[in-house]
Amino acid sequence: MHNNTAISELIEAGKWISQRGWVPATGGNFSARTNTGFVVTASGFDKGQLGSHTFIELDHAGNRSASAAKPSAETELHLSMYKLIPSANYVLHTHSVAATVLSRVIKGHSLDLHGYEMQKSLTGITSHLDTLSIPIFDNDQDIDRLSLLVSDHHLHIPIEHGVLIRGHGLYVVGRTIGEVRRQLEGLEFLFACELERLKLVGLES
Ligand SMILES: [Zn+2]
Repeated sequence: MHNNTAISELIEAGKWISQRGWVPATGGNFSARTNTGFVVTASGFDKGQLGSHTFIELDHAGNRSASAAKPSAETELHLSMYKLIPSANYVLHTHSVAATVLSRVIKGHSLDLHGYEMQKSLTGITSHLDTLSIPIFDNDQDIDRLSLLVSDHHLHIPIEHGVLIRGHGLYVVGRTIGEVRRQLEGLEFLFACELERLKLVGLES
């Protein structure tokens, strides 16, 4: 895929994600794998008003081309996800209320969802009886250290759809822009349902 095509797709996705309130206050970042490497959103821009000047182009090794824009500190985690999951061509990172709160109240190392029909919006999940498990990692301002933790976890339990960062947000992957958007919307719906359920029945249920 050409860089310009990927950038157009991510600009459109940014408008949609912003309208849903999942990237407040310039938070979050988006990227895609392209013919020449990667494109990733630069730091500090409203994700609902992205333009071609708000993206940084990286080569296959993740090195940036000459650009005035500043890469997000979280770019390293995007690159790790592409390395770990060869089929991933898109990574969307969001800071929704549900992902932020759920990842704090769940004390374990994964959010395990079952019983929801909408689990089937995630690739490979065919029944509400399956368990959809999203790993949770403690937040860390040292992104290299966080990336290492994610990579180490992947060696034992392969990451399929994405990861949660505690008190921070979600990273979701997809092969196509359609798949990554569907998986993001599906997960955010499930997180919102689970948060509502826990408010009603409590954490032990
Ligand atoms: Zn973030």
